Amino acid sequence: EPIAFAQLINDVVEAFEVISEQRSVTIKRQLDEDCIISGDSDRLEQVVRNLLDNALRYSPPHETIDVTLAVRGASAELTISDNGPGIPKQDVPHVTERFYRVNKARTRKDGGTGLGLAIVAQIVKKHRGELEFVSGEGAGTIVRLVLPLEM
Ligand code: ATP
Ligand code: MG
Repeated sequence: EPIAFAQLINDVVEAFEVISEQRSVTIKRQLDEDCIISGDSDRLEQVVRNLLDNALRYSPPHETIDVTLAVRGASAELTISDNGPGIPKQDVPHVTERFYRVNKARTRKDGGTGLGLAIVAQIVKKHRGELEFVSGEGAGTIVRLVLPLEM
């Protein structure tokens, strides 16, 4: 059934409000309401939740996270940008592998399992979407998710 993607994203961002306020992280949204996609809304909500959880978890306090949703041709493009530590170039191709965590010493205290992005990648694939990480050591991270618009 058709999914109003902007509304789904808004709901997820609002669910993270307490955590982001605690960390003094501002989540800025610029969402095109015309992005209607199709698929499993529970699974797609899990995708957005896992991506936002990472952006928040790996962002230093007082930083900004930008969430944008726009129509690109026949697709919806979601980007989540953070100003965190980034992902070293050699690790970027591996972050969607199960249990893969960059620099375990750095992230151990944050207590993740390394499954979040493996689940994201699987759900995105099922929806015939594309997932891309633009990042580098110390460069922040941009996650770009492209999903086909509902025809
Ligand atoms: P969880 O299963 O709780 O999500 P996790 O966050 O460690 O655990 P993933 O979400 O799969 O696992 O992410 C894998 C690794 O990729 C993380 O451990 C982290 O090192 C790196 N990573 C993911 N997103 C970011 C980000 N926005 N900034 C910096 N590093 C990131
Ligand atoms: Mg995670």
